[in-house]
Amino acid sequence: MTLDEYLPEILAWCKHREQLILETGLPLTESQLVLAGDSGVKDTDRVRLLSVERVLFPDDKHLVELARACGMPLDSTAGRAIGYGVEVVHSGTHSERLLRHEFRHVYQYESNGGVEVFLEMYLRSVIEHGYLQSPWEQDARRYEHVAANDPGFLPHQP
Ligand SMILES: [Zn+2]
Repeated sequence: MTLDEYLPEILAWCKHREQLILETGLPLTESQLVLAGDSGVKDTDRVRLLSVERVLFPDDKHLVELARACGMPLDSTAGRAIGYGVEVVHSGTHSERLLRHEFRHVYQYESNGGVEVFLEMYLRSVIEHGYLQSPWEQDARRYEHVAANDPGFLPHQP
């Protein structure tokens, strides 16, 4: 299968999911707003955070196979961002590190054309490089511990 065949379906699923998070998620607390700003998000007031039992993925066996082949940790995913919608697994994993990571993905959506445009770029990069080596994931991991405005922060260090 190719991504192109499934892209419309994935996009529709993700837009639906984003809408649900935006409608039912909570606005960020003061400290979470700071973390989102640290990760580069401009419109921090638009972010909503939803606590979930587990992070769901489209229920299609070809897509699941593709995701696994790319190294996506489907069963152990602790959080995910779709546009301004962030969902995190509620079993004690609301760590600052996780939130910084997911907020960085929000920044990536925000600065790369929103869900339609960014999601396609993101998925293509995961297919090309693998999940862990995707430049978008590497960028998000770099922001897990340090704020963007930290003077000691060197964004392009490996
Ligand atoms: Zn990530």
